[in-house]
Order: sequence, then structure tokens, then C-alpha cells
Amino acid sequence: MMVSLSKLKDRSIRNMGDVHPTVKNKALQMIEKAYKEGIYAQISSGYRSNKEQQRLYNKGRTTSGNVVTNAKPGQSVHNYGLAIDFFLVSEDGNQALWTVNKEWHRVAAIAKSLGFSWGGDWTSFKDYPHLELTGGLSWRDLKAGKCPTHLLQDVSSSTKDGILERGDNGSKVKQLQEDLLEAGEKLPRYGADGDYGQETEEAVKAFQARYGLEVDGIAGPKTMEKLKEVLKDMAEQKPSNGHEKNWEWAEEKGLFNGKDPRKPVTREQMATVLKRYDEMKQ
Ligand SMILES: [Zn+2]
Repeated sequence: MMVSLSKLKDRSIRNMGDVHPTVKNKALQMIEKAYKEGIYAQISSGYRSNKEQQRLYNKGRTTSGNVVTNAKPGQSVHNYGLAIDFFLVSEDGNQALWTVNKEWHRVAAIAKSLGFSWGGDWTSFKDYPHLELTGGLSWRDLKAGKCPTHLLQDVSSSTKDGILERGDNGSKVKQLQEDLLEAGEKLPRYGADGDYGQETEEAVKAFQARYGLEVDGIAGPKTMEKLKEVLKDMAEQKPSNGHEKNWEWAEEKGLFNGKDPRKPVTREQMATVLKRYDEMKQ
């Protein structure tokens, strides 16, 4: 059976780890474009912590095996979440293919069209799986705090007329996720990370199912409108039975502002309430 696009993407998301959202987004776009051409590409690694880099550096030096890198912690673009490595897989998705052939070059070309620099173009040492999004900055620049800001802009789908879907990222996705959480949906693994992945898709589906909307996992106009409505209802909620008197009192005294009687209170809000109460007593 032919490997599905979502399987390639899911494996890649897992392997990439905590790379910059834009890097992740472009990597997934690359996989999708290649897939449409009948090329099955997958990401093998992405973000690498300094600890992980140290472990790799030790290989063939202080631990067994061959030397795999010359980069110490902080000396690899992977340590900054701006690099990924790819490889090809067989049509059934079960076998890794490491031969740098025509298809491999094609995937690299797609990546380059999305803004990546390819390690296969390096002159001194060729790193065929390697792709990075640094706008020409080196690890030294990155270590010094420089950042290729122009390449890492919010790539959320403002052009798609208010529709958000899997693969999108940015502030609009983050807002959607925060709204979903507030509406009671769950994002247990990633939370509101600004990245519309499988988890967000599932949360949108759950929301759509709950309110009798078409369950497609895409946050289009109808879903957005319903979400707004649900949040508005929640904001207008009355305090629950037995709490009305206490709520009225707290509202009258100015301890709370009269909104969201049934929403949880953060510790900083609690501190403010206690401070107000303390001032009231004096
Ligand atoms: Zn690499």
C-alpha cells in the first residue's frame, strides 16, 4: 500500500521536534509538493538541544562509534531550530532510501524554492540531507543573537479569506487555539503553540461535532462564528446556584469586574482580588 501524505507529515513532525514554526511549516509544504510529484520525502531530524549535540559530538571521540559531527553544542544550526534533515522513503513508506538521485535533487530544489539553503550545495563538505533557513547567517551569528527575522515571518493564511487549516501557523492560529481551549476543547500535547497540526485539527473536529457543524477539521467562517458565539455565551454566564449572593457581593465590592463568573482565576488575578480586599478593610 502507498504511504499516505499524513503519515509522512506526522512522522516528520515527530522527528523535527521543536523547530521554528516557519521551518516546520515549510518542511511540511516541501513534503506535500514532493508527494504530489510521486516522491516520498520525510524529515529525520530538526531541533537538537545542546545536550543532544554534545552527545553526538562525543561519538567517535569519548564514546564508541564513528565521528558524526564536528559541531560542538551551539555550533550547529540545528541547535537554533532553523535546520532539518530529510531523506526519501520507499513508496510503501517502510524503507529509508539514502541514495542521492534525481528524486533527492528534486526535493532539494523544492526546498530551495521555499527559501531553504541546501547542504548539497556546500563546497567544502557536502551534507545532502541538510536544509536550513538562516538567510545566510552562520551559527556564529545565531549564537551572537542574530535572527533571520525576514524569513521567519508569520506565514498564517491571511490570503485564504479567514480560513485556517492544518499546516497553517502564526498568531491567528494561536488565537484560534486559545479560543478552542476556552471553549473547553483539549490541546493536551502542544497547547496554544500557534501551529495548526493534527492536535488542533482534532480539537476543531471535536468542537464542530459538539455544535452540529460539518466535521472537517478546518476552521472556516461557520466554525469561527460558532466559536465566537460560544465564547460570548460563556462570558455572559450567570453564577451557578448557591453562589449568586457571594458573586453579587464580590461584584458590588469591586473585587471582580462582573465578567465570567465561572471562569477559573489565575494566581495573579487572585493576588489582585486579595489586595483589593485588603485595601477595602483599611
Ligand atoms: Zn543537518
